[in-house]
Amino acid sequence: MSSRLVLVGPPGAGKGTQAVRISEALNIPAISTGDIFRHNVKEQTELGKRAQRYMDSGEYVPDDITNAMVADRLQADDAAAGFLLDGYPRTLAQVDELDSMLGDAKLDAVVEITADVEEVVARLLNRAQEQNRSDDSEPVIRRRMAVYAEQTEPLVDVYRERGLLIQVDGMGQIEEVTARLLEALKQKLGE
Ligand code: AMP
Repeated sequence: MSSRLVLVGPPGAGKGTQAVRISEALNIPAISTGDIFRHNVKEQTELGKRAQRYMDSGEYVPDDITNAMVADRLQADDAAAGFLLDGYPRTLAQVDELDSMLGDAKLDAVVEITADVEEVVARLLNRAQEQNRSDDSEPVIRRRMAVYAEQTEPLVDVYRERGLLIQVDGMGQIEEVTARLLEALKQKLGE
């Protein structure tokens, strides 16, 4: 069973947490563009320096920077048999770019974690306190939600039209959501 998967969902829907859990269950690497960017910002690499100001203001990092980073990561050996992309693609241009990176090795499923906006804003404010993330002040959170609605929500329709979309409710206990995700994936990938 091949599993080339994409996870989409608004900031705070629990994507990162669930990505790790799905990747363990399916034995594929979770590739989080947000985590790669944060690592580079922390290390103050060239990539990190270029990405930081966009991240801090809740905007998307420009496609050329992001696409090159993902293309590079997908070439690593551990991604050959499958992967779970967490946080990429996020724009229609990134969808096209991912298609050309993958060539014949097409995606198997795109999972959308759905969430209530006010609830996720509350979650993010909570996480900001716990993790001290500079992109988690309330105005920046609101901006990230708006950017998601404008630039990323349209991807859901694209993948639905391709017959790849699975939608899973992200509200509730972490374990419950993981169980829902794995069940939905099992059905989809077993088709
Ligand atoms: P995340 O942890 O996935 O919410 O990502 C944190 C931040 O990293 C985002 O708010 C963006 O600034 C940046 N980022 C992550 N993935 C992408 C992407 N696919 N395209 C552009 N920017 C991204």
